[in-house]
Amino acid sequence: MSPSILPGSGESEVQKNPRHLPSVDRLLATPALSALSETLGRGLVKRAIQAELASARAQPSGHTDPPSEALIIDRAQARAQKDAASRLRGVINLTGTVIHTNLGRALLGEEAIDAVAAAMRGYRALEFDIESGERGDRDNVIEELLCRLTGAEAATVVNNCAAAVLLALVALGARKEVLISRGEQIEIGGSFRMPDIMRAANCKLIEVGTTNRTHLRDYRDAITEKSSLIVKAHRSNYAVTGFTSEVGDAELGALAREHGLLYMVDLGSGALVDLSQWGLPREPLPADSLSKGADVVMFSGDKLLGGPQAGIIVGSRLAIDRIKRHPLKRALRVSKLVLAALEATLRVYDSGHRLPERLPVLAMLTRSQAAIKEACSRVAGPLAAFAGDSFEMQIVDCASQIGSGALPEERLPSAAVMLRPKERLGRSGGVLQETLAKFRRLPTPVIGRIRDGAIIFDCRCLLPAEEALFIEQLRLGET
Ligand SMILES: *Cc1c(COP(=O)(O)O)cnc(C)c1O
Repeated sequence: MSPSILPGSGESEVQKNPRHLPSVDRLLATPALSALSETLGRGLVKRAIQAELASARAQPSGHTDPPSEALIIDRAQARAQKDAASRLRGVINLTGTVIHTNLGRALLGEEAIDAVAAAMRGYRALEFDIESGERGDRDNVIEELLCRLTGAEAATVVNNCAAAVLLALVALGARKEVLISRGEQIEIGGSFRMPDIMRAANCKLIEVGTTNRTHLRDYRDAITEKSSLIVKAHRSNYAVTGFTSEVGDAELGALAREHGLLYMVDLGSGALVDLSQWGLPREPLPADSLSKGADVVMFSGDKLLGGPQAGIIVGSRLAIDRIKRHPLKRALRVSKLVLAALEATLRVYDSGHRLPERLPVLAMLTRSQAAIKEACSRVAGPLAAFAGDSFEMQIVDCASQIGSGALPEERLPSAAVMLRPKERLGRSGGVLQETLAKFRRLPTPVIGRIRDGAIIFDCRCLLPAEEALFIEQLRLGET
């Protein structure tokens, strides 16, 4: 046994506590930290104290004085508060991308928010038929609405559109051949790849046509007695332009019927209303594909629809019944919270009344460039002051993106606060990255982007309700 760990040895005191730091118990008993334990819990505060003591011990001794007890208390307090804060941080989205997958996609309307809060507090007739007192089906909550809004015979909902594609392929195409154009072998961000999903669903993928051109005869020639499904996938995040041709829903629907196959359309974004009524580019509607002969159509709940994350499947009674009977449906089902939010969102569409005011996604997409410019001029001063005087500020025209694969080619005219370094930058552009990082370190991080050697803050998605707080935190953060 080495002498240094013998009890009572002076050396051991020094080894255990080489810098004469206060003990954990002593710190826990101080008024500040014991009060914090009451709110955050003793375990969490204790961990923060231990971490601060460890970091004090790790400092090379001899060069600096050990931190004072007051300083350790302050740091432990800050660390405990940081540890207790949600990791799902609120951020201010000035990227210009409205449906930003990494920032949580669609913001929900007030009706949906209220419905979710109420559904969390109380029991709901989720799978319960109130009239008969018997077990019901959770899809009943939204099926009638979805049928009315899309013209479908039946509808169901799962966790997201990727799950909808997987489930439909498994239920309708497993162990059979599934035809899809080479131009639609898509990869959507976050490792959703059509060929992988086909494999996971145990479908034999039959590629049809070429990348830029696929004709009806290509599909016809590929049909065998093992074929089950013809699939069309919205290309979402890329475009094929130039010498191109693809086959429309009407022809593919007819071809599928002629051969006793089903025709499935993965729309991805899928809007429920024609966006061109607000001067936006038109995104294909589920109703279009269904009316032209699709048997099943799936689309996301949290893209252009502006609702919660969900994968909505609409189509013929026959196809939807097969999908609902598959055991995977149970594994991919949505919660009552999602159903509450989705139902409330669909009711806004069903009313047809004041949609852009009630659905934040539509509000942001339809915001005029003039209104965005005004928002820019309200926040430009504080943004520039926070960035510091090595930048030149200017309000500029820019282009926002819809995001999440909706109309990737289309840009919405927008406005931004641009911060350009006064000095010519070196090759690395490190100053821009550092400054963006400084904005991300604000209490509510501000997310911008770099374009052409300058920082760009597109104000399309700056909500009027959060503007005052936004300006306030920039003022407080100024150095
Ligand atoms: C976005 C998208 C998906 C995936 O939808 P999630 O709801 O994110 O799962 C699938 N297919 C297409 C064509 C898409 O655009």
